[in-house]
Amino acid sequence: MFEILFLGTSASAPSAKRGLSALIVKHGEYRFLIDCGEGTQRQILQSGTGFKHLTRVLLTHGHLDHILGLGGLLSTFLRWEAIDELEIFGGRTTLDRVHDLLYGVVLRGNQPPMPIQFRELKGGLFFDCDDFSVSAFPVSHRGPDCLGFVFEGKARRPFLPGKADELGVPFGPERRDLVAGKTIKLPNGKQVTPDEVLGPVHKGLKLVVVGDTGRTDNLLDVCRDADALVIESTYLNEEAEMAREFSHLTAQQAAELAVKANIKQLILTHISRRYREKDVLKEAQAVHPNAAVARDFDTFQVKRDELVEDKVNDHRQ
Ligand SMILES: [Zn+2]
Ligand SMILES: [Zn+2]
Repeated sequence: MFEILFLGTSASAPSAKRGLSALIVKHGEYRFLIDCGEGTQRQILQSGTGFKHLTRVLLTHGHLDHILGLGGLLSTFLRWEAIDELEIFGGRTTLDRVHDLLYGVVLRGNQPPMPIQFRELKGGLFFDCDDFSVSAFPVSHRGPDCLGFVFEGKARRPFLPGKADELGVPFGPERRDLVAGKTIKLPNGKQVTPDEVLGPVHKGLKLVVVGDTGRTDNLLDVCRDADALVIESTYLNEEAEMAREFSHLTAQQAAELAVKANIKQLILTHISRRYREKDVLKEAQAVHPNAAVARDFDTFQVKRDELVEDKVNDHRQ
């Protein structure tokens, strides 16, 4: 399961109710902070998540509404909260700008309180563990090196205990070995292969997170069949011209991508204060019925065959 916690959902400037871009993707003990707009550290505190495991920051691009919070976060880490290491992932120009902010403005010759690693991403797989991986892909927005991220659970074959019982496989390490893909030998000398006790392949969950983007045609393949897509929705269709000019999407364009790519759940963020949330939602749902507009502190769980919104706000209109 992937859990998404939205920390900031506003576009370019904060509004009274929405902070600047930031969200956390959780999987087991892993945490990925995606973008870190100004004020993110306070949102983290308010969400009750804490800083402890927030050692990986993924940046979609280097625009100020997505990175300025890293300055404040580091300033706090200099005095208060301690984490062991900070890894910042992003495109080259994004990392250059963040380096200037952290080393030129915040540290100014002082040592960082923990090692800071800048990990340049060019696209492709960059994080891989037992049961999921994270890859980056290019996105077209103003300026170079804009990225989106795919979180993908590993495909699994379920263990079929009934079959194992039939074949006389004892409980214990033999079953573990079969799940791990090893052929085992029973006490009577008979061999049992994994194929005999494992069911058909179950695809892993897929979550795609796209930051600011002006195009969707080049996102179709990477988004295809995702269980959930988080994507910007800065404009409404009535201002599609302006969306094009500033290289952003309308709610309708985001929803059209979700339909074409067969996305189960569409979650819109990067909402402009020029619109009412209900109008953004209406435009998106007219195209993709399973669309939601994220609010600060909303959490979504991406699970097998369903996505549950934890906090369904009754007062939403
Ligand atoms: Zn932005
Ligand atoms: Zn931007």
